[in-house]
Amino acid sequence: MVRAFLFGEPGKPGESLEGESGNEATRGRDPRPDVRPGVAPGVRPDLKGFLPQEISEFLASLGEPSYRGTQVFSWIHQKGVASFDEMTNLPLALRRKLDEVARLANLEVLARKSGTQGTVKYLLGLGDGNSVEAVRMKYTYGTSACVSTQVGCKMACRFCASGAAGFVRNLTPGEIVDEVLKMNLDLSRESSASREPQTRPRIGWVVLMGTGEPLDNYDASVKALRVLNAEEGLNVSYRRMTVSTCGLVPGIRRLAEEGIPVTLSISLHAPTDDLRDEIMPINRRYPIPEVTDAASFYATRTGRRVTFEYALMRDVNDDVSHARRLAGLLSGMLAHVNLIPLNPVKERGYARPPRERVMRFLAVLKEARIPVTIRRELGLDIDAACGQLRRRYCR
Ligand code: SAH
Repeated sequence: MVRAFLFGEPGKPGESLEGESGNEATRGRDPRPDVRPGVAPGVRPDLKGFLPQEISEFLASLGEPSYRGTQVFSWIHQKGVASFDEMTNLPLALRRKLDEVARLANLEVLARKSGTQGTVKYLLGLGDGNSVEAVRMKYTYGTSACVSTQVGCKMACRFCASGAAGFVRNLTPGEIVDEVLKMNLDLSRESSASREPQTRPRIGWVVLMGTGEPLDNYDASVKALRVLNAEEGLNVSYRRMTVSTCGLVPGIRRLAEEGIPVTLSISLHAPTDDLRDEIMPINRRYPIPEVTDAASFYATRTGRRVTFEYALMRDVNDDVSHARRLAGLLSGMLAHVNLIPLNPVKERGYARPPRERVMRFLAVLKEARIPVTIRRELGLDIDAACGQLRRRYCR
């Protein structure tokens, strides 16, 4: 029972239906017949999760010319409007019609915390009483959005705050897209109002590394990335997107064939099955050899170097012997290791190693010629470790 819940069929097609989110009160019940095939009866489709072509087809089904689709998409993605009513170059009658037959995911900023180095953490309300976290990070090369794909998580990694309260629900494509749009709007508002809209800063990188397991909400995650990639919208290139996974092997293999060459990041955190079984229960289902095989397959299919995340935990996985095992595991692979000094989660009892231990671990990997970096510690001052802000807020 517990196992089935924990490991419930990751990456299965058709898991996330448009409009499955929300409770009865917010789901947008509509007594009229369906206007779009494939949409559950009585549910107004969320156009925020639609590609430009899909919006055009939807509008064509209402008898509208196709250029209206481009207009609607651009209102949503380039101007960041929250309602059809704000789409002022559409005839009033069409705006009213859209209100009746469609909807737009509209996340509410419940909390916003600025940290050092231009990092901003958001708690975003989903409209059904649930909320998720998202983080905006500033780098020298641009701004990155780290977003959640689920409310809670099934994976129960021992050192992670996200899984502590269990899984609640998947996000829809429109909700994932809106996390990025809300942060983009905020970013553009912060810049001088006198700047031309085209020259204002924008989100240029998207990372599915917030709460949840993106490959356990495969369809919605991939759909959101496709929408964010659309030229008529934010136009984030796939090479500037990262999907982070705890190692759901079927999902990794499926993503390799998806035709979207995003960076794959695998949360490894341990070099042996014994240790990984202990700190990441998912390893009992997909052990390390299967994960590294899938990673090699991904690298070969996409030509992209795979990142292995390794959160260093004091006296757990931070020994020189662990570093040597890790180097052995990855040698010869198109891979890169990202060492993360742990964000301590008090209740979980895992601590961060002293700096010299981190440096020693790094040196062993370097000596073995494994490409390795230490993650810049963004957000420690604003509870940016997974799930921490949400838990503090909800307490
Ligand atoms: N489910 C996905 C993405 C969400 S977690 C995954 O597992 O990759 C994003 C990253 O933060 C993962 O690498 C995760 O292992 C790591 N993480 C979780 N808790 C952490 C903590 N307390 N300190 C440092 N990294 C943590």
